[in-house]
Amino acid sequence: MNRREFITSTTTASCAVALGACNDSDRQAIDYSKHPGKSTDKSLHVNVNKNKKTTIKLATSWPAHFPIMGTGVEKFASRVNTISSGSLEIKLYPKNTLVPALAVFDACSSGQIDAFHSGPYYWKGKNSAFSLFSGLPFGFTAEEINSWMLFGGGLDLWREQYAKYNLHPFMGGNTNIQMGGWYRKPIESLADMQGLKMRIPGLGGEVFSKMGVNPILLPAGEIYTSLERGVIDATEWVGPALDIKMGFHKVAPYYYSGWHEPGSILELTFNKQFFSKLSLEQQAMIEVASSEINSNMTYEFHAQNIQALQELKNMNISILEYPSDVIEAGKIALKEVVSDLSSKNRDFEKVYESIDKHLSLSKEWSDASLKYFLNNR
Ligand code: CA
Repeated sequence: MNRREFITSTTTASCAVALGACNDSDRQAIDYSKHPGKSTDKSLHVNVNKNKKTTIKLATSWPAHFPIMGTGVEKFASRVNTISSGSLEIKLYPKNTLVPALAVFDACSSGQIDAFHSGPYYWKGKNSAFSLFSGLPFGFTAEEINSWMLFGGGLDLWREQYAKYNLHPFMGGNTNIQMGGWYRKPIESLADMQGLKMRIPGLGGEVFSKMGVNPILLPAGEIYTSLERGVIDATEWVGPALDIKMGFHKVAPYYYSGWHEPGSILELTFNKQFFSKLSLEQQAMIEVASSEINSNMTYEFHAQNIQALQELKNMNISILEYPSDVIEAGKIALKEVVSDLSSKNRDFEKVYESIDKHLSLSKEWSDASLKYFLNNR
């Protein structure tokens, strides 16, 4: 493209953004009916009674007022109520008050509840592809996964998969980059990981398993005691903000940076039939409020992590890095896990292909821009 062509094309593009500043002849038609996150699925719009007040029964996988995740969904509920002028009322059911924490998917699928707030990787037993909608070890950052979801086909694939369960998901927050976890003893090399009993769920757990770790699944309330008594040798959780409240630093003081959950998505998922009966305005309000919770939660994790990191440093907890042989083994293990799951499940293969396409391009751009900047800041 020569300079003149470049100027012409950028002028047209900027006119599309700021229509008022351009002549009619410069205007390009914009289809305002289609925007990221808006579904084109016609089955979503049926049988609408605009004047009806609707109550949404929304269950979560977190205790009441659980920091960031629980409080985030409380703000979402309040926001939807306000912007709908009360036509939508969200009744929140924290973990185990209406359905058990990990029964929310089935309860929403069957219509017992209308919506839930949780994490897609909890449902990998239903379909291994679902774990990919949370993220991938060595995969997307929070910013990159939002880009894949909204502009790389991720959200469409997610909705296509969940529709088989009568569910319609939205992004409902992101933990932002997670820490590698807390260890009772330092990790000097890959040999120190062999046979290590570690609480680590999801695809990260499968990767660690291939590396020789023995992944253990434990309810949140049992992790601290298990770590203290040596029933487990290590645990990952989220990041400084939530980890410090669990007190892991008191019994396993070696804290490692991570790569197993670089930007995990949380979900705000609706019963599809229920959602389809809301008016277009109500659906749009939920879209807007879910977009808000998705971005705000990511930033809140960041803001609280930076404070909690200082508190940990004041307690003489330092951040360690895994030795390079651990990282190399992790990358090899990830390839094996992806290859195994792809050969067993066409859905996994299809979603992974979409991720791989976006991620390989994203890595080049992020390396050329953000990585350079962070290394030099
Ligand atoms: Ca985690």
